[in-house]
Amino acid sequence: MSSIRQKSPATKGYSTPEGSLSPSRSLEVPTDGTLAASQHKQRRENRSWVQRFNGTVIAVLFIFGFIYSTVTLCVILPWLSYSVPGVLNLASFSLETGTALWCFLLCVIVDPGRVPDDYQPDLEANAVVQVKRKGGEVRYCQKCCKPKPPRTHHCKVCKRCVLRMDHHCPWIGNCVGHGNYKSFLLFLIYVSMAIVHALGLLCAHALYWLRMHGENRQHSIRTGPAGTVIGAGHQIHTTVFWAITQTVCLAFSMPLTIGLTMLLVWNLYLALQNKTTIEFHEGVTANMKASISGGGYQHPYDLGCCGNLHAICGGNPLLWLIPNRAAGMGDGTVFPTSWDSLAEHNAFSL
Ligand SMILES: [Zn+2]
Ligand SMILES: [Zn+2]
Repeated sequence: MSSIRQKSPATKGYSTPEGSLSPSRSLEVPTDGTLAASQHKQRRENRSWVQRFNGTVIAVLFIFGFIYSTVTLCVILPWLSYSVPGVLNLASFSLETGTALWCFLLCVIVDPGRVPDDYQPDLEANAVVQVKRKGGEVRYCQKCCKPKPPRTHHCKVCKRCVLRMDHHCPWIGNCVGHGNYKSFLLFLIYVSMAIVHALGLLCAHALYWLRMHGENRQHSIRTGPAGTVIGAGHQIHTTVFWAITQTVCLAFSMPLTIGLTMLLVWNLYLALQNKTTIEFHEGVTANMKASISGGGYQHPYDLGCCGNLHAICGGNPLLWLIPNRAAGMGDGTVFPTSWDSLAEHNAFSL
């Protein structure tokens, strides 16, 4: 079995869930693997972005279309029409839904980040290398037969290592990693805005309908596309269809709003600490072990709220809410740590 050994064991550094973060000096590189066979295996195992459009992803796209068409065609246009509130609601809801859809497609299509074939820890540059706790060996994936950069994990579903892996999300048929984490975060933001907006409109329309119905003014109510009026004789079936559609949409929107809002709050909490979901769970374990031994655990990549958002969303705050591949986020194999900031501060102080 190939192995990577650290000739100069780590002497000091951060405690991490998997071991320590330490400057390493030299590394023996495995030489017994056949590169061609490895590349062939990787090509076979890698799924193209087209294959990620599985049944679940198609179902999510269908829900997108169902809620958007119901809210616009059954609520906004027939109820508010092209009045100022109607146009404002139509424009803002379309923008929220369109941006959320764009972010969702980016999450599906964009590769979450793969370890470069020629990746080796930059030991000459005295780079920070994450090592395993046991034996002090550099992180190495036995399945991919490659060294693993810090924060990289092997995904059993994708059958490969993913840079800065957060989790494998079945709803996007893809891993959430370094390449699409910003898109994932923005998707949660915009889709939460859209679903809260949709729920608000559906509830307001339902209350309006109930109030008008209670006042026996149903003949003036339009619950379907413009021109479809309750009690209008031949249009009664159409009206019932649109009323059922709105009820189904409302029933869908309520749990979606709760679930997506909770997911957004959770991911914002993680993002503000620059933690992945995996690192959160590892941190809980590390904290327990550290507290038993009387020590403490500090997440090494926490650069402060602003620094963390810079690291995740890019260097320009004006582009933080734009679903793009922001510059300055690095290649996903090296990440700044709070230790770096401390070293820079100390050097500056000297
Ligand atoms: Zn792997
Ligand atoms: Zn995966």
